[in-house]
Amino acid sequence: MRQIPFLIGTLYGGGAVGFSLLVILLFVRFVLYGYNFITVVVYATMFIITAFYSPMFDKLNQKKKLVMSMLLTFFLAILSAFIAIIIADFKVTESYLVDFILVPPIGILFVVYIIETLKDAIIMRSKLIKVEKMEIVSQLAASISHEIRNPLTVVKGFMQLLKTPDLSNELRDKYIHIALEELDRARLIIDDYLTFAKPAPQKIEKILVDQELRKVIDMVRPMANMNSVRISENVVTGCIIGSTQHFHQCFLNLLKNSIEAMPNGGELNITSFIDKDKVVIKIQDNGIGMTREQISRFGEPYFSTKETGTGLGTMVALKMIQTMNGTLDIDSAVNKGTTLTITFPWSNE
Ligand code: ADP
Ligand code: MG
Repeated sequence: MRQIPFLIGTLYGGGAVGFSLLVILLFVRFVLYGYNFITVVVYATMFIITAFYSPMFDKLNQKKKLVMSMLLTFFLAILSAFIAIIIADFKVTESYLVDFILVPPIGILFVVYIIETLKDAIIMRSKLIKVEKMEIVSQLAASISHEIRNPLTVVKGFMQLLKTPDLSNELRDKYIHIALEELDRARLIIDDYLTFAKPAPQKIEKILVDQELRKVIDMVRPMANMNSVRISENVVTGCIIGSTQHFHQCFLNLLKNSIEAMPNGGELNITSFIDKDKVVIKIQDNGIGMTREQISRFGEPYFSTKETGTGLGTMVALKMIQTMNGTLDIDSAVNKGTTLTITFPWSNE
């Protein structure tokens, strides 16, 4: 059986791996059984032939890999027996036939089968994750464009009504007012999802949490001032992987909600720190808070307690956190305030 890891390593890893395994194999063998010239010749031959076929093996499909590894092992077993017979007048016994000629090819077959199946499973898994993430983003785009189409249809309708001859001034003002309101609504929806959208596809890059958080904080500062909300921040540097655009949009939506939760002013506290292998970001407000039911509906599309709310901000934020492999926890009490804890895997490159 000792040939099996040696041959597998050489087939999959190529010459360098194979040679290291050869040295280890011979060393251990000599320590256990003493030096033997035939062993060196046999294993060196095995190494040279296997390493020669290794690049070809790499390109084969699964079935051919199974067949080739088995045939190669079988061929090497026969060749080794011949070498031994020629050099040392070796006697082929029944147990040699079984142990050295029949068992290794079957063993190799099993091991290659297991390796290939596992490899498949790993590739499938990472593909699946990618597809899921793409799906989240395209679902978002679909639901948002649907939401924008409604106000646009209304605007178009009232514009057409404006063309009616002899329209009274009163009605005209009314139509214009409705159209403007609907346009405002479309803008709100776009704000919650597309503020940072660019025509280019999303780039996955390193995000410096402190730097990007400060940018978002600066963006909401005017809004905070208008609502007499004081912002305090204590963010430390930390790196995560994701799309900067998504990161901005996500935190803009969350910070906007926190400020909107304090219509009579208050304190907005943003902190970040590193905990083991995670980057943790906390957003704390002392606003109106949420009931248990509201907490359970956080992130649900179109759930809003505001008069002109879209109910899209938290959904978008939550989905973007998910695509960056992050999590969001809510701790909220009515009239006390809300603390959101967002955790991302830390990338320490
Ligand atoms: P919108 O802000 O348009 O209402 P969101 O999806 O951004 O939509 O938020 C959904 C709902 O979640 C809000 O209407 C509010 O009830 C609740 N919410 C979100 N964040 C907070 C917060 N920091 N404090 C209190 N309630 C919040
Ligand atoms: Mg919002």
